[in-house]
Amino acid sequence: MKICVIGAGVLGLSIAHELSADGHDVTVVEREHPFAGASHRSFAWINANSKFPSSYHRINAEGIEAHLALQERLSTGRRWMHRSGCLLVDHSEERPATYARRIEEAEAEGYPVRRVDADELRRLEPAAVWPGDVDGALLYSSEGYLDNDIFGEVLQAELARRGVEIEIAEAVRIDSDESGAVLHLADGSSRSFDRVVVAAGAASGALAEASGFRIPVADLSQATVRTHSLLGLTRPTDVDLRHVLISDRFNVRPRHDGRLWVQVPEVEPRVAEGESPELLAEVAEVMAGELERLFGRPVEMEKVIFSGRSFPEDGHSIIGFVDEGEKVYCAVTHSGMTLAALFGALTAQELRGEESALLADFRPSRFDGGVARADDSYFIGKQ
Ligand SMILES: Cc1cc2nc3c(=O)[nH]c(=O)nc-3n(C[C@H](O)[C@H](O)[C@H](O)COP(=O)(O)OP(=O)(O)OC[C@H]3O[C@@H](n4cnc5c(N)ncnc54)[C@H](O)[C@@H]3O)c2cc1C
Repeated sequence: MKICVIGAGVLGLSIAHELSADGHDVTVVEREHPFAGASHRSFAWINANSKFPSSYHRINAEGIEAHLALQERLSTGRRWMHRSGCLLVDHSEERPATYARRIEEAEAEGYPVRRVDADELRRLEPAAVWPGDVDGALLYSSEGYLDNDIFGEVLQAELARRGVEIEIAEAVRIDSDESGAVLHLADGSSRSFDRVVVAAGAASGALAEASGFRIPVADLSQATVRTHSLLGLTRPTDVDLRHVLISDRFNVRPRHDGRLWVQVPEVEPRVAEGESPELLAEVAEVMAGELERLFGRPVEMEKVIFSGRSFPEDGHSIIGFVDEGEKVYCAVTHSGMTLAALFGALTAQELRGEESALLADFRPSRFDGGVARADDSYFIGKQ
């Protein structure tokens, strides 16, 4: 089939890759450049941690395995998926209750978790100087992190090798009927395809609306902790961080180039203030303070990025056909780093006509009766 994928973020590229591997004639249409959206500024913790309901947990757990399988299948010698394990630390007095609840949640799903004591925590993460009252942590051994820039480069190289072009053009509307789909571009031209896949991240909602479909994605014009995050990037450091660290005070994870990605829950509500250089500098200072407290030595910040999420209004992925004739398919999610490899494979499977039971709870049709908006008190340790 002749298929157009709209958007060259992590989802669009992964989907285009699987569709071209299936032998389709694939074109990617991207309005700016590959990885122009959330995909280049993501914390990219690969996890199914505290994700509900069970069906959402399941796709995220499968998402972890799908990355590992794809990495092995492509055998390019470049690694983007690192199963480092994740340590979850609660510094507050609520710690016993937090750990008990998180263990209960994980065990109910058969998701690997175990309690580690203070000695083991120090052995697992020797670069960190834990406060005296931190008596341990939870270890999630199946989790890890994704070097998103490397994943993007690998996918683009694979697409180029297969002759798939990434065309710089803006999609403004899609019409579809029984025979196929027509894509209208901002330059006034139109192109016909057998199928169109919308993977335009946060912009998918507006494109759907212009086309008479419904893909409810949060509006990024009003920044809240649900839609935005202040994401820090350090300068290269020799701090030997070995796990993804998630806590009530900070989220920190390593990168392939010696930098660390950082989030600090305390400053997240400041996304409502916008992205002035003064604000980003203040947030960088808070982050540097947290890192110094964590590692017992200074770690320099390179920048703080005001980063918008592609956030489906009810907090769960939207994947499947959006039109009656089943010519237009969409894939939008805020756990896109975890889910990219899986959604690539399942989109290709569904466009072959084989419906995936895993995706049954995530169809666009669930919004037919209206949109239930997810809670605004979204916690960044759940991404
Ligand atoms: C701060 C932050 C932290 C995150 N942390 C995690 C995490 O820990 N774990 C995790 O799994 N996920 C995480 N995410 C989510 C994850 O990064 C996203 O779900 C993922 O990047 C979405 O990828 P995408 O391809 O759908 O969208 P995007 O990367 O936004 O790509 C969409 C692309 O479509 C293009 N486009 C838009 N409109 C059009 C148009 N009309 N025509 C043509 N092209 C168009 C854009 O230019 C863009 O390149 C995080 C996100 C943020 C912002």
